[in-house]
Amino acid sequence: MHVDEWSVELQTAWNDFKACVIDYGQALLRRVPPSMKTQVTTLEEIEAVTREITYTLANTLAQAWTRETVQTLEPTTSPSCPNCDRAPRKVGSRSLTKLGIFGTYHWARTYYVCPAGHGGMAPTDAMLALGPERFTATLAEAVSAFAVNLPFDQIPPPVNTLVDLPLDGDTIRRVVERVGCVAEAAEQAAIEAVTAAIAAEGEKPASETSEAEPPSDSGGSLSRSVAPDALIVSADGAMAPFRTGHTYHEVKVAVCQPLQRVSATPSASDALLWQPLQAPDYCLGLEPRPEFWRRVQAHARAVGLDAPTCTLVALLGDGADWIWRYGALYLGGPGREIIEEVDIYHAREHLWDYARGYFATEPAVTAWAEPLNDRLETDGPGPIIAAMTALEAQQPGTNSDEVQKHHHYFVNHADQMDYPRYRALGLPIGSGIVEGTCKTLVKEQLDAGGMWWSRVGAQAIGTLRALYRSGWWNQFWATRPYATAPRRPDANSQARPASTTQVA
Ligand SMILES: [Zn+2]
Repeated sequence: MHVDEWSVELQTAWNDFKACVIDYGQALLRRVPPSMKTQVTTLEEIEAVTREITYTLANTLAQAWTRETVQTLEPTTSPSCPNCDRAPRKVGSRSLTKLGIFGTYHWARTYYVCPAGHGGMAPTDAMLALGPERFTATLAEAVSAFAVNLPFDQIPPPVNTLVDLPLDGDTIRRVVERVGCVAEAAEQAAIEAVTAAIAAEGEKPASETSEAEPPSDSGGSLSRSVAPDALIVSADGAMAPFRTGHTYHEVKVAVCQPLQRVSATPSASDALLWQPLQAPDYCLGLEPRPEFWRRVQAHARAVGLDAPTCTLVALLGDGADWIWRYGALYLGGPGREIIEEVDIYHAREHLWDYARGYFATEPAVTAWAEPLNDRLETDGPGPIIAAMTALEAQQPGTNSDEVQKHHHYFVNHADQMDYPRYRALGLPIGSGIVEGTCKTLVKEQLDAGGMWWSRVGAQAIGTLRALYRSGWWNQFWATRPYATAPRRPDANSQARPASTTQVA
């Protein structure tokens, strides 16, 4: 409950109470021993002492208030078991400890046990909206905000510059993974809703398709109503270390950027043709590739893929076949053109690797590759393929299979390297944004030194980080994901939604 939502009467009482607090602060200052006042003279020292006093006071108040509330909330009649409706047996008072933003709180509450074996329950726990782990919801949100940017064991020092709490990396990890599991469950619900909506659209005549859109609340955390003119979708994969068998598994990342047309006519000049309609949307998945594309599809729809205005999707990748194979399938649709683009930086890497395989010295490599490198953007892959063919005719026998691989890369992906066209259309030719995302979402965090992930844990934290980066954070926390968090799914069960028959 926010102060703004309180009644006028309650707000008046609150303002009176705050005036008391200010008086109390002045009174406290008069009680500070004079010997202390002579020692504590810099603002830094004053803040340090004040923080100590404030937290002692805050902890006392929060703990006493909680205890008093629990007393008033204790049910006078016996509750019923949520599983079987039978009256549980009262087993007396049991103590509970929570770590909150003002330190540790202890209290005791009445505990009941179901006679049919459904376990124990304390009705006041639910009334206090406690989270499942040792942290309070506010502390869980605070450490989660740190966890989207830092490895778990690096979180306590910055938190402790503000509040001095007994935090450890393992507890933080448990709490954040739990929150991430809630985010991932919402994401799976959104994916299922999109799959259902697509199935419904398929069964209806085209004129009715607009009615088949999922209701806005079925999208879980994914729901934004935008009508872009185009989408840029970039996908990439990176390897992260997994606890199971100490192996590395591929983590896939995609970025969907909705664009708005600012100029109607394509031109050869560098005039701006598009502008971002809103911040890019990120997603991360550990599932197999077809399932990952269902996730991308849900995200692409959340930023307007299926809006009637969206007639163009530029699909950027490093040339890995899976991106092309599934991308067009999941992002295509009537009246929507898919333009597949090999990221130009990857193409250039293949050019230079080819040259290094062919020429012995760096000056020779540069002399051959640099002019071609410069022409790739303006003339496409044609001059490079021609130069490679000519070189191999002049100096046969010096080219290995390894070198040939790079030649084939250009031949096989020539249609996806039409950079002059992409530039004329005003589209990006590099997937820098997804490369950078892969690096920060996967490499720096999932692959942080010595960290081995469970599958569930890696997906949970990955989803949470993607959600934060996409600007969904406040919306997500408004759903109170910690206080209502279900039990953490068993890491071995790996429950996944039933896959569709869309891809064989
Ligand atoms: Zn029961």
